[in-house]
Amino acid sequence: MSSRRRTLLKVIVLGDSGVGKTSLMNQYVHKKFSQQYKATIGADFVTKELQIDDRLVTLQIWDTAGQERFQSLGVAFYRGADCCVLVYDVNVMRSFDNLDHWHEEFLKQANPPDPKTFPFILLGNKIDIDGGNSRVVSEKKAMEWCASKGNIPYFETSAKEDYNVDPALMSIAKTALANVQEQDIYFQNIPEVVSETEQRGSCAC
Ligand code: GDP
Ligand code: MG
Repeated sequence: MSSRRRTLLKVIVLGDSGVGKTSLMNQYVHKKFSQQYKATIGADFVTKELQIDDRLVTLQIWDTAGQERFQSLGVAFYRGADCCVLVYDVNVMRSFDNLDHWHEEFLKQANPPDPKTFPFILLGNKIDIDGGNSRVVSEKKAMEWCASKGNIPYFETSAKEDYNVDPALMSIAKTALANVQEQDIYFQNIPEVVSETEQRGSCAC
């Protein structure tokens, strides 16, 4: 198997409205931050190329268009996801309490073959606000939640100050890549099975 293959990974970003999902992705892809609140409009996804070991990886990052506030996100959003990034705001308890909902919603809508091992990652965003004095969710509490969901990796981030954004996304890419490679191994075996069947078919004639 060529290790120089380009791999496309679909990453979806979920969490309450206002937690900073779009800001995190803007910071990661465009190295920009805007204080102004605007609902995400336009493209369904942004892409970013990166090198992981000897692999070229294209991350296709799907952000919501703000519809998480009032309607479901539709099957196209979830279909074929390789990794799900959950985001909450460390200063807003409700956004943390809603993580269970987003986690369940993803599993229900995307319906991955093995829900227990599907790669999730959690980002606790806006740690810059008020120098951390207004935070209401401790790192410990967040890590306990991650442990209860099968050891989801956890990063604390600030889209505003570009803190931990790159390391978090690198971890996401690696986690998604590992998941895809496992699938590759599974699918590599399938053509052999098919060709054996074909050979047998021709022998019987
Ligand atoms: P989304 O609805 O989850 O996509 O959230 P947005 O990315 O639109 O961000 C909502 C608001 O929070 C905007 O006003 C952003 O400027 C602000 N924001 C996002 N991330 C951060 C952060 O890390 N720190 C601070 N101080 N503000 C942030
Ligand atoms: Mg948004």
